[in-house]
Amino acid sequence: MDAIEILRQLKDKGVRFTPQRQAILEFLLETASHPTADEIYHHVKAKFPGVSLGTIYNTLNMLKEHGHLLELSYGDMSSRFDGNPENHYHIVCSKCGRVSDYHRTLIDLDQEVMEQSGFLIMGHRMEFYGICPKCREDEQLN
Ligand SMILES: [Zn+2]
Ligand SMILES: [Zn+2]
Repeated sequence: MDAIEILRQLKDKGVRFTPQRQAILEFLLETASHPTADEIYHHVKAKFPGVSLGTIYNTLNMLKEHGHLLELSYGDMSSRFDGNPENHYHIVCSKCGRVSDYHRTLIDLDQEVMEQSGFLIMGHRMEFYGICPKCREDEQLN
């Protein structure tokens, strides 16, 4: 879904959109870097110096609530945000923390887990950990 379509849907639901909020949404849709709230803040601040971290957080919460955003939480570390809300897999670099998408057909486990556990399964999250190509290269150079 593009920014215009998301804006249209949210306006129909009565969500107010300022140019700052729109800039946050557009950044999330165009980047594949899974930025933290801080990174989003610095990016939007370049264009809108008056933007506050509070605006970033409440826009992220609003987008998440309406299903347009995925939050990847990592315990103590800052959450990362993904403008692609469809369930997909991620690879995390243990050295630099970079998060990449890995697209493949989702593993069909939900039904099995539901039957075995009695939980109502809404989805699952799977992550791969390793050293990214850039860090591997740097390691060899050192
Ligand atoms: Zn790395
Ligand atoms: Zn992703």
